[in-house]
Amino acid sequence: MSALRAIVIGGSLSGLFVANLLRIIGWDVDVFERTRGDLTGRGAVLGAQADLFAVLRRIGIPTDKSIWTQVHSHICLDQSGKVTCEVPVREATTAWDRVYRALKRAFPTERYHGGMTLLSCSQNENGVLATFANGICAKADLLIGADGMRSTVRRELMPDIAPRYAGYAAWRGVVAEGQIPSDWRSKALREMVFCLPDGELAFSIPMAAQDDIGDVRRCAFVWFRPAEYNSTLRRWCTDATGACHGDSIPPPLIRQEAIAEIRQAARQLLAPQLSELVARAHQPILSAIFDFETPRMTFGRIVLVGDAAFVARPHVGTGVTKAALDAQRLVDALAGFDGNLFAALAGYECSRMQAGSQLVARGRRLGAHLEPRRSECAGHALARPPTERLLREYGQGNIADWPSEA
Ligand SMILES: Cc1cc2nc3c(=O)[nH]c(=O)nc-3n(C[C@H](O)[C@H](O)[C@H](O)COP(=O)(O)OP(=O)(O)OC[C@H]3O[C@@H](n4cnc5c(N)ncnc54)[C@H](O)[C@@H]3O)c2cc1C
Repeated sequence: MSALRAIVIGGSLSGLFVANLLRIIGWDVDVFERTRGDLTGRGAVLGAQADLFAVLRRIGIPTDKSIWTQVHSHICLDQSGKVTCEVPVREATTAWDRVYRALKRAFPTERYHGGMTLLSCSQNENGVLATFANGICAKADLLIGADGMRSTVRRELMPDIAPRYAGYAAWRGVVAEGQIPSDWRSKALREMVFCLPDGELAFSIPMAAQDDIGDVRRCAFVWFRPAEYNSTLRRWCTDATGACHGDSIPPPLIRQEAIAEIRQAARQLLAPQLSELVARAHQPILSAIFDFETPRMTFGRIVLVGDAAFVARPHVGTGVTKAALDAQRLVDALAGFDGNLFAALAGYECSRMQAGSQLVARGRRLGAHLEPRRSECAGHALARPPTERLLREYGQGNIADWPSEA
C-alpha cells in the first residue's frame, strides 16, 4: 500500500512539528509556507518545558545545554531600579530561532515549499484539494492547518469566528550579551526581571544562545502596554509611507518615531535597567495580543493545530509547547488509526480541545489586569495580583528543575 499523503499549511513551528513527526510514521508530507526564506527573525525567548524537549528528542533533535539557559530567580524592580520582591526559581528558557532552525534542518528541503500562499481548500470522500495563490493545486489524504492565528484554513471552514483583541500589545526585543550594560549583564543573563508601571507589565528574561557554536548569550524584553485598537495600535502599525498594516506590522517597517516613542516611554516608566534594554534592542517587534478558542479542531479530512486552533495570550509562555503536543497527539492518533482516518481525527480532537481551552482561560486570567477598557466598562478596575503571586505565576510549567545535559 502506498504511503498516506498529508499537506501541511504553514511552515512555522506547528507545521514543522507535525510534518517531522508524520514522516517518522511513514507519511508522505509536504509543507506549504506563505513566506519565502527564513523565519528566524520572528520569535524571541521561549519557556523550556519538559514536553517541548521530549517532542524535539522524538524528532531526533538533541536538547543539550546549548539550546537552553538557566533562570535563577524572578525579581521585581521599582521605577528607580530597586529590588522590591524576589522569588528564587530553577527554570529554563530556550529560543524560538533555535527550535525553528532545528526543526527546519530535520525536514527535507525539497518538501518545504516557501512562497506558497493557500487560497482555499476543499474535500470530498476521496481526499482534499489545496489551491494556492500562484494557481498551483495539491491533493492529499489529509490537510493540516498549521497557519497560525489568522488561519486561512480555519477561515474557509468557519468564516464567522475570529480572534479577539485583548486591548493591549507587546513590544519586545532581543539584546546580545555584549550590548547589555556591563553593570547589569550578569543579572540580566541569570534572572527574570519585572517592572510593573500602572496598568502595564514589562520583563526581561535570559535567552538561549543564538547558535550552538558561537555561544553569544542574549536576553529578551517584553513590555505589555494598553493600546486602543483604532488609535494607538493603528498608529503603531502605520509605516513611514503612512500605510497602516492593520493590527500588525513587519518589524523593519515600524517607524523610527514609534520606536523613539517607546524608548522615551521606557525612560519615564521603567526601571533604568529595563529601559536600557528597550533602548539597545536592535529591532523592536510589535505584537497585538489576541486570544482565540476554536469550537472544533477537525472537519472531515481537515484538521487544525497550534495557533490556528487555540491562541493563548503569551503570559502562559507555552504556545509552542501546546503546538508540539497538538502535533504529537495528532500523529499518535494517526499511527494507530487502523484504517479509520475519521475515528483517529476524532480521537485527536477529543484529547486536545480541553487543553487548548484551559490554556486560553489561563492566559486571560493572567492578562486580565492589563485590559484597561474592559475593566472601566465593568465599573471597577481589575486589580493587579500581589507582586509575589504574579512573579510566581510567570514561568509556571517551565522545567521545574534544570534539564540534565543530554
Ligand atoms: C509577544 C508574544 C510572546 C510569546 N511568547 C511565547 C513564549 O514565551 N513561549 C511560547 O511557547 N509561546 C510564546 N508565544 C506564542 C507562540 O509564538 C505561538 O503559540 C506559536 O508561535 C504558534 O506557532 P504556529 O506555528 O501555530 O503559528 P505561527 O507561528 O503564527 O505560524 C503560522 C505560519 O503559517 C503561515 N501562513 C499563514 N497563512 C498562510 C497561508 N494562507 N498559506 C501558507 N502559509 C500561511 C505563516 O506565514 C506562518 O509562518 C508568544 C506569542 C507572542 C505574540
